[in-house]
Amino acid sequence: QDAAGNNFLRSIIRKDIEAGRLEGELVTRFPPEPNGFLHIGHAKSICLNFGLAEHFGGKCHLRFDDTNPAKEEQSYIDAIQEDITWLGFNWSGPVRYASDYFDTLYEYALHLIREGKAYVCELSADEAREYRGTLTEPGRNSPYRDRSSEENLALFEAMRAGEFDEGSKVLRAKIDMSAPNINLRDPIIYRIRKQHHHQTGDKWCIYPTYDFTHGQSDAIEGITHSICTLEFEDHRPLYEWFIENLPVPAQPRQYEFARLNVNYTVTSKRKLKALVDEQVVAGWDDPRMPTIAGMRRRGFTPRSLRHFCEMVGVARSEGVVDVAMLEHAIRDDLDKNAPRAMCVMAPLKLVITNYPEDKVEWLSAPGHPNRDDLGTRSLPFTREVFIEQDDFREEANKKFKRLVLGKKVRLRNAYVLLAEEVIKDAEGNIVEVHCSYDADTLGEDPADGVKPKGVIHWVSASHGRRAVVRCYDRLFNHESPDRGGEDFMQHVNPDSLQVFNDCWIEPGLADAPAESHFQFERTGYFVSDRIDHSTENPVFNRTIALRDSWAK
Ligand code: ATP
Ligand code: MG
Ligand code: MG
Repeated sequence: QDAAGNNFLRSIIRKDIEAGRLEGELVTRFPPEPNGFLHIGHAKSICLNFGLAEHFGGKCHLRFDDTNPAKEEQSYIDAIQEDITWLGFNWSGPVRYASDYFDTLYEYALHLIREGKAYVCELSADEAREYRGTLTEPGRNSPYRDRSSEENLALFEAMRAGEFDEGSKVLRAKIDMSAPNINLRDPIIYRIRKQHHHQTGDKWCIYPTYDFTHGQSDAIEGITHSICTLEFEDHRPLYEWFIENLPVPAQPRQYEFARLNVNYTVTSKRKLKALVDEQVVAGWDDPRMPTIAGMRRRGFTPRSLRHFCEMVGVARSEGVVDVAMLEHAIRDDLDKNAPRAMCVMAPLKLVITNYPEDKVEWLSAPGHPNRDDLGTRSLPFTREVFIEQDDFREEANKKFKRLVLGKKVRLRNAYVLLAEEVIKDAEGNIVEVHCSYDADTLGEDPADGVKPKGVIHWVSASHGRRAVVRCYDRLFNHESPDRGGEDFMQHVNPDSLQVFNDCWIEPGLADAPAESHFQFERTGYFVSDRIDHSTENPVFNRTIALRDSWAK
């Protein structure tokens, strides 16, 4: 992949166009199974499929690969559509379902049976496995393999009519039990599942397998380039066998690319579902989840995810991408685009004794240091302000460039203060610090020429608003939580969520709509929560700290 975003798939398509192999336009598809929320790996597949269509002026379909009703749900279908739209892509035409083609697929199965290329098999699952052989040993023919077409037609129709129990019979393609590629050893194409289907209701009690569905659905929709992940490379001969042996209306081709793996997380719907089911997280859209919905709630932007997918590129060999790259993508985006604001997370009250009690000055501060288009904001300055507890010490050495008793500090966008007296409770805890301010220091150095070393953030105690801030960290404390057959649950980071209930924010922040992104100065990047935030009860999620704090 080069800087212009060219990858091997673009080259293949360009050659197809130049050689005149593409009769009409390029048509790709994104084919999720609605058995969970989409994750960061799916985002890559979305960017790739929709991106290729955009690049070549073609189309990309959204097709739910819904052949396994037991694990599928309407709520996943809805969430997946919302995620794709949020990422900024539009599918061409209606939302499609592989189940739209169940009638045609059934006809295709009948066609294979009539041609003597499919048969009803009654081996149990264990027997079938035994007959299949291994990588080094050829399989053996099923004793049911040589049934007549008539018998197979009658049995398959009886399967469809619900006359047999689940697991008692399957329909298999008759290909080659000694093929080196195990996928060609008479693969199952239909199985009995007495299951209600979210799209087709109770119409069917037999369902086609993924392999029998995918390529034919591609052909029916006129998909030209069917792009999938590398684990399907060994299925390609089967994909092609069906296309050659069925009266399909087009000749799609399958191409494979390496799936995206990111360290410190898991990208498998099954494992993500376990995290949800076992309540390790609050839901599929928990801000710690590597789901698109989770990352959205965490404060990732569509732009940052698209940029990340571009950066990781499209390869033919598997690798693991450092999560730091994902973090870099969002930090970079928010640094450039998020308005600045101040939030005190662990408040310590300062009383400015020489500032009038009922006075309020509205100071102006830039929305962003180098984005004039983000305007200015008004900060109320009052006699009492909050600063971070960590930003004050009674005594400190020169390295501590914050507020120290008897020394000066600048409040960001406001005045220079001098800490004069510490007030403590009976136990010796600091309850407030009394200061004086220098009225001539708004945007000016002190007249005595002694510049304070530090600048700290603050919020008016009387005019600021109270907020809840949730700080998230990596969900796993292990680089490869699911590698080597280990139980990934044992690597869950117990400190992945820290809630700060007594935070203070600039008053303007309470009015921010949900999903507004900010840099809280000196603290990190934050987003107003998509669901829980309101003007009355402001709630912010930390998207990412200002700098990477994970030691390498
Ligand atoms: P999972 O194992 O998480 O369930 P899946 O491949 O079974 O993943 P699908 O819903 O079938 O999930 O995937 C839809 C599309 O997204 C497929 O084309 C699949 O190849 C692609 N995809 C899934 N995971 C990744 C990944 N980690 N990287 C790139 N593409 C992916
Ligand atoms: Mg799949
Ligand atoms: Mg899967």
